[in-house]
Amino acid sequence: MYAHWESCAAQAEESHWGYPEYLASLCNQEVVSRTQKRIVRHVKEAKLTPGKTLSTFDFKAAKAVNAPQITALADNIGWVKQAHNLVIFGPSGIGKSHLACGIAHRLIEQGVRALFMSTTALVQKLQQARQAYRLPEAIAKLARIPLLILDDIGYVKKDDAETSVLFELIADRYESSSLIITANQPFGEWDQIFPDNNMAVAAIDRLVHHATIINIQGNSYRKPKV
Ligand code: ADP
Ligand code: MG
Repeated sequence: MYAHWESCAAQAEESHWGYPEYLASLCNQEVVSRTQKRIVRHVKEAKLTPGKTLSTFDFKAAKAVNAPQITALADNIGWVKQAHNLVIFGPSGIGKSHLACGIAHRLIEQGVRALFMSTTALVQKLQQARQAYRLPEAIAKLARIPLLILDDIGYVKKDDAETSVLFELIADRYESSSLIITANQPFGEWDQIFPDNNMAVAAIDRLVHHATIINIQGNSYRKPKV
């Protein structure tokens, strides 16, 4: 308001505004500027990969991607409010992470708080928390973020370490906060991620109960076009 009151007063004089209109205009500018700052802060906080937005995603080049479906998910925060999930399958380089970031970016612009993480990094973090007997606190902290993006869930290998922390996270978020998950492997191969088959089935059950599943097929965008 301090930055704008003089220019706004000049405009008020020129346009013959009364005091109420002047005050409303000044407050409106303040709201707009606060909203913009909040979005910038939340985008930064979400650790999205810079430049990966829906406006930089070439939908024409990605024939297998259902553009209206992606736009609907990005423009409607209802599914996050309802704690539903989104699972994006497809081979490496097809644009899964880019789409996940792009959707999250749009949702953040509409006031949703989000956090993008590689699943490997997240599992490591949760394992450290478990070793320090602080796993419930770590999971509770993540529960405060309505939308968590777990990128490349398939890169987590059950024999690397104890990945049951991942199950605990999924179970904790079930019907209370949303997940976007990107994966190279279909559900049928998720027993390679979780310590045992039962846990894989239980995790998938909770994920898909309220979820949109997107399966993108095609060639990597990274490969040179011929
Ligand atoms: P994935 O996560 O499926 O392995 P990425 O989302 O990382 O793939 O995509 C690989 C690279 O190609 C990234 O740099 C991404 O921005 C780019 N890319 C993929 N598909 C598209 C597209 N349709 N339009 C623009 N860039 C794309
Ligand atoms: Mg990726």
